Amino acid sequence: MNKRLKAVRIDTLRDQSNCPACGAAARVHSGDQASFTVLFQCGSVFDVRGGTPISYLTPCPGSSAVAAAHLERQAEAKAIAAN
Ligand SMILES: [Zn+2]
Repeated sequence: MNKRLKAVRIDTLRDQSNCPACGAAARVHSGDQASFTVLFQCGSVFDVRGGTPISYLTPCPGSSAVAAAHLERQAEAKAIAAN
């Protein structure tokens, strides 16, 4: 197990002030150097436990809305470029 990677994973989660999927604000950061969990306003929960990669306990319910907004921006950019 790469101890540095584990520490950086936890630091990365600790630094999150917004949901990485939808941008909702972080509500609760909890944990220590062994494991860390972040709960976001949208209800998503991301965590690191032991030597596992960063993962989620509860997925972001807004991720499809984010994907749809991304597609809409692409469509708008194409429409402007076609003018
Ligand atoms: Zn979210």
